[in-house]
Amino acid sequence: MGIFSSKGHIHLQGHKEETKHKEALVYKVNAQEKVYLPLVSPRGTPNTVLVSVGAKVKKGEKVMVRTDFYVPIFAPISGRVVANEKRYNSVIGRPTDHLVIESDGLQLEAENKFLSAANLQATRADIISAIKEAGIVGLGGAGFPTFIKYETDKPIEYVLINGVECEPYLTTDYQFMRDYVDKVVQGAALLLRAAAANKGVIAIKVHKEPLPELYQAALVNYPQIKLVEVPDLYPMGWEKTLIKQVFKREYENLPAECGVIVNNAQTAAAVYDALVNGNPITDKLITVAGDGVNNPSNVNVPVGIPLANIVATCGGYVGEEVTLICGGPMTGKPIANDSFVLQSAMGGFTILKPLKHAAQFAECLRCGECTLHCPANLQPVEIKRALDRKDYDALEKLNTMKCVECGLCSFVCPSKIEISDAVKRAKTMLRFQQGLKAKK
Ligand code: SF4
Ligand code: SF4
Repeated sequence: MGIFSSKGHIHLQGHKEETKHKEALVYKVNAQEKVYLPLVSPRGTPNTVLVSVGAKVKKGEKVMVRTDFYVPIFAPISGRVVANEKRYNSVIGRPTDHLVIESDGLQLEAENKFLSAANLQATRADIISAIKEAGIVGLGGAGFPTFIKYETDKPIEYVLINGVECEPYLTTDYQFMRDYVDKVVQGAALLLRAAAANKGVIAIKVHKEPLPELYQAALVNYPQIKLVEVPDLYPMGWEKTLIKQVFKREYENLPAECGVIVNNAQTAAAVYDALVNGNPITDKLITVAGDGVNNPSNVNVPVGIPLANIVATCGGYVGEEVTLICGGPMTGKPIANDSFVLQSAMGGFTILKPLKHAAQFAECLRCGECTLHCPANLQPVEIKRALDRKDYDALEKLNTMKCVECGLCSFVCPSKIEISDAVKRAKTMLRFQQGLKAKK
């Protein structure tokens, strides 16, 4: 059965009205306020630090480089490097060292030029190299270095700009696309050239007024790029589902196999901002929403600001006890404290009053709902059983690694079994086992 034939998608209560029409707040960095940049990559490898304690830096100045992939990291504020400090890193799941920059309150900006010919003469190679030097990573949640997608030797027919944002609560893609139409469209045009692709598609969900009108008008001068509206179903923003919906194509591992490269709408705008304006990623528009925060809002925040300070900007928590989720409720990760800092791939935080489940049945009813709804055609309940008996061969046969961590199986389970957590754990166990096998 194909990924999008008769299952694997569901209409969710979006909870997006809380923030989508409110004007975005702007986080104000005070003099002597500190930002913290992790000294390790999201994969845990150490970064190469280019500045020493005591150095003065400007906003947008290169201060570190990742070593797993080549990704420069830029100072989000101007000020002085004051320390290295350990704090909780929510991406890694443990405390790691962070570079601490103290604000001078001046917001002095570095002058960058990533593309010497940010014009019609720049070649495909020039654009990819500039994207790499500007440290652009996917801003839709994955944080994967963007240049790698474009270094493919596969022929690319389409660049697909993903503005679908199907996670409940999160609205930054919608708001960003509404407020920065030209940046998104011109960024998309640059990405078409980086891919040597003839055609582009900007995908949004239906009923996202005024986006259709705004983009139809802006695309008049870009006949190679079309706007496509897709159904309001979860997980429509997942690359496989979106490509199947828009192009009726399927692939095994990477979209390039079927002639498509996918980038989030804010990533396209970041490419434009860096290559044309010389501005690398220093700030991020994020959603802080849910019934556990006093003033749910979208906020533009410098990277490296602790979550506790961001929540304070949004009026603080409702009550003493909340459930804090890094991301949306379907794919996000619950985190036990708010001392960690904003990283560029994060799209938002869902803060909920403590959940009161009516009844927690641990018993599987064998109803098959989890299998029926899995968009990756997996059998989550069988994966959980194989995990419980540590049957790694069965986990492999059940294609466990194909889980996209969409959370649908937990959502539909009538027994409220956290089945998607079990599948995630099974993936971790399999990776570990595969690592052991490789070492033998
Ligand atoms: S979390 Fe994984 S197993 Fe569960 S429905 Fe989504 S893809 Fe399927
Ligand atoms: S949806 Fe829940 S109760 Fe039904 S088979 Fe899956 S795990 Fe069991």
